[in-house]
Amino acid sequence: MPTEIRLSPFGECRYNAWNDYVKTRHGGRVQKVSVLAGFTCPNRDGLLGTGGCTFCNNAGFTPGHLDRRQSIHEQIETGLDFLRRRYPRTRHHIAYFQSYSNTYGEFDRLRACYEEALAHPEISGLAIGTRPDCLPDQVLDYLAELAQTHIIELEIGVESCNDAALQRVNRGHDFAASADAIRRAAARGLDVTAHLMLGLPGESTTSMLDGARQLSALPLRSLKLHQLDLVRGTALAREWERDPAAVPLFAEDDYITLVADFIERLSPDILLQRLGSEVPPKMKLAPHWNLRLHELAPRVSAELARRDSWHGCRYEPATSA
Ligand code: SF4
Repeated sequence: MPTEIRLSPFGECRYNAWNDYVKTRHGGRVQKVSVLAGFTCPNRDGLLGTGGCTFCNNAGFTPGHLDRRQSIHEQIETGLDFLRRRYPRTRHHIAYFQSYSNTYGEFDRLRACYEEALAHPEISGLAIGTRPDCLPDQVLDYLAELAQTHIIELEIGVESCNDAALQRVNRGHDFAASADAIRRAAARGLDVTAHLMLGLPGESTTSMLDGARQLSALPLRSLKLHQLDLVRGTALAREWERDPAAVPLFAEDDYITLVADFIERLSPDILLQRLGSEVPPKMKLAPHWNLRLHELAPRVSAELARRDSWHGCRYEPATSA
């Protein structure tokens, strides 16, 4: 039985969108300026493994203009040159530590990188992407302290709520690690975003939709959904080339259907920050559809409208025993 209608208080679409919340909370658009700080991750440097997650090729996710030889301050300047022209009405810029695991390293080095970014006069905060097993309490305490005076978004790569799928892609952590990191971060007052991939091998429609239920039980502020794209040079792309049946991929319409099904089951308190991914065409092996994000969002809203459904209409809050 659907729960009561809690249709977006922030906007016109049939789901609660992160951008609308941000504009309300921070008085205008907040734009991310990507930076590359030169971190690695424990799934690549040998601590957990060297091969990485089988879907990962950071070149597929890293903006092409970033140059590690530049300082963080210089990278921000380069990014701002572009963003000021493209989004002249932006209220705040925040530095986005996106590629690899940006809380993995000596604490003093992490702090120096974050503080170099925050020292830029046009930077109001940080968005930090990382793995759930790279968030010691010391780092969370420090980020919570920064959040008293800056915009701080912590983006945790959950990727799947299904341990078999996580193992299948060599993720190196389980869902319990994600739940633990999200709870510890949120307990400190941090805005936590989960990054979730839909369509990893080992998933089924049932397990992915159950993920909406599992994530809804966690204190998340927002969610980024990504379809599985096969990026050239990855182990998963090679696996698909050898045996496409082993790595099933979404057709465009099937992905939109699944995202709508997922949103119906997701707590309306968890805002949708992204509904899919964009990989540069030259990096992408498959699938062969290339919906841009600004095209995907209205397609999902139209699917929800066609069903006369909305964000959370099938959400069932957990009941205590
Ligand atoms: S996806 Fe993240 S955790 Fe996995 S190998 Fe790539 S950088 Fe490391």
